[in-house]
Amino acid sequence: MVIVMAPEATQADINTVVALVETAGGDAFVSRGVSRTIVGLVGDIEQLGTLNLRGLDGVSDVLRVSVPYKLVSRENHPNRSIITVGGVPIGPGTMTLIAGPCAVETAEQTLQAAQMAQAAGATLLRGGAFKPRTSPYAFQGLGEAGLKILAAVREETGLPVITEVVDAHDVDLVASYADMLQIGTRNMQNFALLQAVGGVGKPVMLKRGMNATIEEWLMAAEYIAQRGNLDIVLCERGIRTFETATRNTLDISAVPVAQRMSHLPVIVDPSHSGGLRELVLPLTRAAIAVGADGLIIDVHPHPESALCDGPQALVDGDVRELAKAVRDLPPLVGRALTQPTGPVSVPAPARPEAIA
Ligand code: PEP
Ligand code: MN
Repeated sequence: MVIVMAPEATQADINTVVALVETAGGDAFVSRGVSRTIVGLVGDIEQLGTLNLRGLDGVSDVLRVSVPYKLVSRENHPNRSIITVGGVPIGPGTMTLIAGPCAVETAEQTLQAAQMAQAAGATLLRGGAFKPRTSPYAFQGLGEAGLKILAAVREETGLPVITEVVDAHDVDLVASYADMLQIGTRNMQNFALLQAVGGVGKPVMLKRGMNATIEEWLMAAEYIAQRGNLDIVLCERGIRTFETATRNTLDISAVPVAQRMSHLPVIVDPSHSGGLRELVLPLTRAAIAVGADGLIIDVHPHPESALCDGPQALVDGDVRELAKAVRDLPPLVGRALTQPTGPVSVPAPARPEAIA
């Protein structure tokens, strides 16, 4: 069982819950997040179920869920969630396009890519400043200088920014610039990192581990939620299979499956799935048709000289087709492309005490 405390719950309210559970022979594990506290209960479920926990002051929800991923499960939360990033919604009813360069290389390249993204209909900008590269000799990203470029491009274009964080120690730094934090496929089970982003109070996009089952992916999301952050978007980005013609195999069925198992939005990354420019548009169309809540796509003004993932980046000449796909296809499945929402939010400075 899991107890979700209300944001206004006091320490005394939490102590009352813990005392009641312990008196009934159970154990209570308190996890304090920025916006709410979660109390996990272990013990005789039947016995604990007889306690009137829901009636206690400061208790917002009591979840008795049979699956191991409790807070992100749909069992107790039948309505699918809408997560808002800098004023832009991601969730049912809409289809949100996130686009931008794989890596931030220069201010000019990032601005040009952001303009391509906007021309395609994107309402959020992607761009990596910390790059988790397979080779230690490959470009590792510009670090904080890259975050500063993203913030400047946000100012110029109005596009809220999503960027990857690869180390728990960098979470506050990245959160102080970004509107949404990205956890990449290679870090899906980096539990210290998941807990750190769970404590920082910014929306998180969690990519599926390339070798992870859907249940393992949801358990990873549970690590973030358990720290009090339920603003999570899942991203299917392809998995490892025996097939070598594509970089990864886009598990298109993961979209409706994860949406049935979890209330969290599910988006698709057709760029890192196929790994090839010519696959991005067909996979984009497939993702919209299958009911994805959004897309995250690499674009680059000069992919031939890109420092990361050039072969999969869409170029200027592809933007018109992408714009057409994201405008025309979502209405066929009961969605509308998310529209810009006006002035961009300026992220609040990260709280130093929020690190796990
Ligand atoms: C990325 O989106 O830049 C990235 C590295 O993706 P993935 O973690 O899916 O490989
Ligand atoms: Mn990439």
